[in-house]
Order: sequence, then structure tokens, then C-alpha cells
Amino acid sequence: MTQFLPDFAQADVAASPNFGDRKDVSRPDMIILHYTGMPTAAAAFDWLRRPESEVSSHYFVWEDGRVSQLVAEDKRAWHAGKSFWKGEADINSHSVGVEIANAGHPGGLPAFPAAQIEAVIALCRDIAARHDIAPERVLGHSDVAPVRKVDPGEKFPWEALAEAGVGHHVEPAVISGGRFFQRGDAGPPVEALQAMLALYGYHAPVSGEFCDRTAGVVEAFQRHFRPERIDGVADASTIDTLHRLLRALPDG
Ligand SMILES: [Zn+2]
Repeated sequence: MTQFLPDFAQADVAASPNFGDRKDVSRPDMIILHYTGMPTAAAAFDWLRRPESEVSSHYFVWEDGRVSQLVAEDKRAWHAGKSFWKGEADINSHSVGVEIANAGHPGGLPAFPAAQIEAVIALCRDIAARHDIAPERVLGHSDVAPVRKVDPGEKFPWEALAEAGVGHHVEPAVISGGRFFQRGDAGPPVEALQAMLALYGYHAPVSGEFCDRTAGVVEAFQRHFRPERIDGVADASTIDTLHRLLRALPDG
């Protein structure tokens, strides 16, 4: 197993054999956040370092805020699987993967301890500064793999990260009545919604048909940016939040 010096000075190195070379990418330009989704941190940590699992991440953040580094940042860790963002399908080559110890949906979505979130923020700030990674390219696994993945989950405190300069965020619009679009709907407004999701980076079809895939992408969007209600229905609050996020982009 390759030993290496930690890229994040506060990390302990605990090498995983599960990595390769980044393909046609000299340095990462995204950070992907995950929860481990296993009953204990120790079991997840062990799994990410076993050859037979064929999964890994660059970093592992324990509940108490300790950080372990499993794969050197110049290597390609195996954390994102089949994923997509802004035209790019090899998210593993483009990203630094961070696994956050948390039992996730199977464990009833336990809260992330404050010490753990402080460590995630310090780690992401350090990675983003060293590689000049834009805030809007700090994303959840569910953003790059909608339908298939739901981590780090709707309890993940994206707002606290944004207040510390990590990630892209706008205050979600209040949920109220008004027009909405859902599965089975079709027409130009559905196509406009899909085009906005795709412009932000999501792998959304732009067909004018509100299909299952579209509902799954809307759910992924809500899980990250409008977590109060995750139902795959494009209500006025969801659409307004998406609008304002797009306008808040540096090139928006
Ligand atoms: Zn994940």
C-alpha cells in the first residue's frame, strides 16, 4: 500500500488500496460530500480500506472531528460511481471525495455533531483554497447521482457551510401555494424547469415531459437547496430557489 504525506496538515494518513490515476485531469475542481450510511464509523472506515470493497474516499471525517486521509489528492479515489455534473461524467477524476461518518437514512438521519461539521468546514476550505475550487462546485453525492444516491442527506447543514464560505447557497423561498409541476405534466414550462436544472449542472433531461427522472432530479435539488419538503414536485418555492441560485452564480 502506498504511503504518502497528508495533503491536509491535520489529517492522519490511513491509506486505502482503492484508487487509480486521475484521467485527463491534472487537479481536482470539485469536492463531493458523502455520508457513510453505516451503523458505525469504524465499520465504514474499515470497508473503505478493504481491497474487496473497491470503494474509497480521499478523506474520512469522524464524529469527533478527527480527519483521516485514505487516498492522496493527486490520485483518483472511488467514491462517486456513476455520476454526472455540468457535462462531465467522470466525477471521480474531477473531485476530492469526503466521507462523513453518519448512519444516514438507514439510521434515521442522526444529527451531525458540531465538532464534525467544524472539521468538514476546515477541510473543505483547505482543499478549495489549495486547488482554487469554486463554491458552486462543492456538492453532495445526491447532486451528482440523483435517484441513485441520497447522501449526505437533507439534515446536512449546507447553510452552516455556506456561512463559512464553503459551497453555494441562497435562502430557500418560503413554501406557499401557487402553480406547480409534477409527474405527468408536459409543455414549455416543464422544459424551462428542466433547462434551469441542467444549466445549474444536474443531469436532467430537457424534453418538456415531467418524467420520473425529472422528479428524481427535483428531489435531489430539494434535498440540497430546499430541504423543508422533498417530494419531487416543482412548486413555486422550488422554482424560485433555483432561479435565485442561478442568478447568484458568478456568470449568472
Ligand atoms: Zn456517497
